[in-house]
Amino acid sequence: MSAPPRPVRHDYTFASDNSAGLAPEALAALIAANPGGAPSYGEDEWTARAKKLLGGIFATECEVFLVFNGTAANALPLAHFCRSHHSIICHEVSHVDTDECGAPEFFTGGSKVIALPGASGKLQPADLEPVFRRGHGVHYPKAGALSLTQSTEWGTVYTPDEVRALCAEAKKHGLAVHMDGARFANAASTLSTRGCSPADFTWRAGVDVLSFGGTKNGMNTTEAVVFFNPEHAREFEYRVKQGGQLASKMRFAAAQWIGMLETGAWLRHAAHANAMAQKLAAALRGLPGVKFAAEPESNGVFLLLPVAAAEALWARGWHFYLYQISRNPVYRLMCSWATTPDAIDRFVAELRSVLG
Ligand SMILES: *Cc1c(COP(=O)(O)O)cnc(C)c1O
Repeated sequence: MSAPPRPVRHDYTFASDNSAGLAPEALAALIAANPGGAPSYGEDEWTARAKKLLGGIFATECEVFLVFNGTAANALPLAHFCRSHHSIICHEVSHVDTDECGAPEFFTGGSKVIALPGASGKLQPADLEPVFRRGHGVHYPKAGALSLTQSTEWGTVYTPDEVRALCAEAKKHGLAVHMDGARFANAASTLSTRGCSPADFTWRAGVDVLSFGGTKNGMNTTEAVVFFNPEHAREFEYRVKQGGQLASKMRFAAAQWIGMLETGAWLRHAAHANAMAQKLAAALRGLPGVKFAAEPESNGVFLLLPVAAAEALWARGWHFYLYQISRNPVYRLMCSWATTPDAIDRFVAELRSVLG
């Protein structure tokens, strides 16, 4: 992604949901957890409670591990399922392939990441077929895992049926299924309006392990790795430590999860971010020269814009990215828990004025 010129005005940002501050519930929980001491390395009562709450979201027995960031929350579980002679199948715009500096390859000791095209940032079962046909026997890596992103890097959302169909195809070929849920809360919010629970589009659909994002939801430096079959999590704690991802002061990560989950803030903030993206999309629809690269279903809006208009907005201090991982240059506008309706009104007014 290429960055706009600096300086950037702070309240003029649609750059990323991780450029927002901490959600008030996460910050309050951090402060509340601060007085006194607590056992280290996750032996504290906050961590036990956070894990219980996380498991409760999925209504099944889970094994939960807190790590610092999404790259680790993807690469470490992928490494737990894949060996060096395996491959990991993902979408061509997936974070796993485009944004992790080869961490999945590194932590697996050499698994080949195979990135496939698919409309609107999504894969369909038939898209996987060429991988299974390619090569012959031991001469090509054995497919080890399918990694799906929910919500996707294009701001779309897989339905439970779509996840189920992909998992069925993956299972047919003996693959584990990983879900990159850096924006899991946004997907959960969208799907809850259609009557679906987090269980419906994870383990009930066949997902084995989820990277559940805390950071983009409004927390600081915390993501949860959720194994839906505790047997799969065997010895994962060693991998977390070896990967440099075991927090000694884990209570501060855990406290934020408690603050966000107990109050329902995780879903409320995600719903707000999604609503802001809908508001933005509605205001942009029909403007001359503006086209949607994908239908917004979560907290991001992906646009084709005249280059001069984008550059004029950057010059006025608006911060958003040119998303170059796609075939066509697309501008990405991300909303967060902190995005205000007023910022959207101002952005749209300025875009209208630069479009002339
Ligand atoms: C932000 C993001 C991540 C996490 O990235 P880190 O910078 O490693 O925390 C993972 N997957 C997707 C799809 C993301 O957007």
